Formats: sequence, C-alpha cells, structure tokens
Amino acid sequence: MSRIPAILSVILLSGPLPAQESPKPFVTYPGPVGDYLKRIQQGRQVHSFDASVRFGQWQEKAREALIELTGLQQMEKDLGGFTPKIRLGQAEKNNEPFTRALCSIETEPGVVIPFYLLIPKDANLAQPLPLLLCPHGHDKLGLHSYAGAFKDDKHRKTVLEKKGDIGAQAARRGFVVIAPATRGLAEEVLVPDPKGRHGNRPCRAQLIHCLLGGRTPIAERVWDMQRLLDWAEKHPLIDRTRVAMAGNSGGGVLTAYTAAIDTRIRVAIPSCSFTSVMSAEGFIFHCDCCLVPKLRDWGGWKELGGLVAPRHLLIVHGVKDSLHHKPTVEKLAANIQGIFQVAGAPNHTAHEWGNNGHRFYPSLMWPFIEKGMAERN
Ligand SMILES: [Zn+2]
Repeated sequence: MSRIPAILSVILLSGPLPAQESPKPFVTYPGPVGDYLKRIQQGRQVHSFDASVRFGQWQEKAREALIELTGLQQMEKDLGGFTPKIRLGQAEKNNEPFTRALCSIETEPGVVIPFYLLIPKDANLAQPLPLLLCPHGHDKLGLHSYAGAFKDDKHRKTVLEKKGDIGAQAARRGFVVIAPATRGLAEEVLVPDPKGRHGNRPCRAQLIHCLLGGRTPIAERVWDMQRLLDWAEKHPLIDRTRVAMAGNSGGGVLTAYTAAIDTRIRVAIPSCSFTSVMSAEGFIFHCDCCLVPKLRDWGGWKELGGLVAPRHLLIVHGVKDSLHHKPTVEKLAANIQGIFQVAGAPNHTAHEWGNNGHRFYPSLMWPFIEKGMAERN
C-alpha cells in the first residue's frame, strides 16, 4: 500500500489549502469603481523598461521624458539665468565629533531653503570626505530632526527612539552632511493654505499651485537638491564622486526622483517610500504632493528604479509600516532586480525589511552605503 504524501495528509486533515497567488487586497473599491480606476490608471507606459533596447538608450530617453513630465524642464527654462545664493551660518558650539551650522541657499528668486551643514571635525583638504544629502519627509521640524539639532527634550526623544537623526549619525561616521528643508514640508518653506481650501494641508496647497504653474512639488524639490549638489561638488572637503542620498517617507520619494534624474547620486536609499504608484486595486500609495501627472503614461516606479542602475539603490521598508503593502513592494523590488541584471550590476540593488514601522533602519543602510562607496565603478 502506498503512503499518503505529507501534503495530501494535511489537506485531508484540514481541508483545502488557501490559494497562494492572490495576496490580501490592500483596500477594496466598489466593483465598477475599481474597474474604472484600474483602466484609467494603467496608462500608456511609453517608457516602460524594454530589455530589447540598448540600456543606455532606454535610460536617456526615459530620463529626458521624466524631466519634462515633472515640470523640471520648465523650471530649467524659467530659472536658467538665476544664480543661487548660499549663506553659510556660524558653526554652533557642541561636544559632537562634527560641526553643525544652519545655512541657506536661495534656489529661485525669493525661495530660501535652509539646510544644516555638518562637517567632521577631523576633516582635512588632503582627504575629501563622502557626502550624505538627506532630505526629510512630512515632518515640519524635519531638517532639525535629521541634523540632530533638537528643539527640546520631547523632540529629541521622538526622533532618537526611531533613530531619525540620520544626518548626525552620518557625520559621526565621517560624512559631510547636508540636511536640507524639503520644500512644502518643512515649517520654514511651507505654502500656506488660507481658508483651508486645500484640506488644511500645505503640501497639497503646494501641489495645486505648482500644477497651475506647469510644475510639480517633485520638480521643485529635485531642483533644490540639484542646486545644493552644484554647490557641494565644488566644496573642497567633499569628494564629489562619493555622494549618497537618503530620506524616509516623503524624503525617500525625493531621493528616488533625484537619483533617477541626477547621476551625481552614487548611492540612493529611499526608506519606507519605494513602492508602486498604486496597489493592484488602484489605491495610490503616496501623498498628493508626490504626484506627477501622467506618470503612468511614462512608466512607473519600476522605471524610476531602473534609472538609478548601474549606480546603487537600496530599497528599505518596515514590516509594520501600514502605509505600504508587502506583496506590492516585493514584486516591484524583483522587477528592479531584473533591470539591474540587464544593466550588468545585479549586486548594486537590494531590498531589505526592517522589523518595525515607518522609520529609518540605519543598521541596514550603512553597510550598503559603505559597500557602494568602496566600489570603484
Ligand atoms: Zn504631502
């Protein structure tokens, strides 16, 4: 008599196994609405990754189209004649192994973006240091949080219990750090929402005003990051070939777009942010201020990731982060792995899960950054 295979005995004892291929929906919509959303959000995906096209050629065309789509090209046209103005602040007295100064850069007429500049105290001109550019997300005190310049004990406690002082951590590890205000998110650079017309949400007000003017908050934020990079790459203490960028949440979205558009970013770590535009049901994952109209006619986050290759991209999420959907993230990460394979750099991307919620996972980040900085390609 043949033995009953183990799998069959489980079925006999406990009934049929659940279907494996359909993960739990992230949200549900009424049937006709769901069908409509999926249909209109599919888009034309003109620049969808195509392995049959020469890799560099696909990237060049996709990047050019993305620059136009975000409104960044419009900003380049409008602001081409403007010279950004840097104001360096006085370094404060502290007991840290780095100096910290609150500085600012005027990136377009009347738009002054504050940023912290952190420099290790043992920095010297003979050995320029790597740079970490770390823009924050939806935290009105964001640049202060990242730089470890706390307003009070409560602020310190809130940030440190999530290891959110990522800039201060980097400076202790020997990085020069620029921790800038993210336009529309930091208290210093908000677009007010008088009368609550846009839901009492300054970042949504920023989106609406931008769209009217032919640009997006993403373009404004990438523009600011690029003007900071222009300045940083001439700084004598900074090694322009070793630039990392990291941000959590909205700062991660900005990291993804900046790294896709600007090849000066060598290692990109978008934290708790790198996911598809939408879930299988049509739910849009990111905040309104991260919207790029017609993005689905261009492609999606798979293509954003592909534009970073063959540079270095670490996608990090938290298993308890309710803003994101694990199966969606894993499918996207696998697709991006495939693109890096085609680019000849399969080891330059990775995907990690932290064991907590919506926050940084420094212990997963630093080894990846250091490896990316050490490689000479
Ligand atoms: Zn927002």
